[in-house]
Amino acid sequence: MEQSDTCIFCNIISGTISADILFDGGDTLFFKDIHPQAPVHIVGIPKQHITSLDGMVGDDHLLMGKLLHDATHVARDAGIMKSGYRVITNIGLHAGQEIPHLHIHILGGEPLGPLRCKA
Ligand code: 5GP
Ligand code: ZN
Repeated sequence: MEQSDTCIFCNIISGTISADILFDGGDTLFFKDIHPQAPVHIVGIPKQHITSLDGMVGDDHLLMGKLLHDATHVARDAGIMKSGYRVITNIGLHAGQEIPHLHIHILGGEPLGPLRCKA
């Protein structure tokens, strides 16, 4: 699995940086966001270092399908399946992507309101 020494999320995968890990899907990992934006805010990543949704090549799309599928199980375990939740991924500068390792945000635990496109 390709990883990057300087990537925060790769360092969470290797255990160099600690995180509150909720689910290990083998090729995916889910952990609590360090700065939660909702009562439930979970980050889900593929263990392979892919920079963003736009950085996928070859069979990477299969991994994205697996990530989204695992996310539904994680949401169920977090108790937000029935109430509903939002899954988003930021890509690049204008989306405010901070960590250049493909990830999804799972947000829920309260009504999230309309999707805000501006701060
Ligand atoms: P982005 O803005 O790139 O879509 O999201 C990156 C997310 O990673 C942010 O919500 C941020 O709070 C979270 N994050 C950044 N560094 C860490 C960390 O060291 N541990 C955890 N658990 N989350 C982090
Ligand atoms: Zn990485």
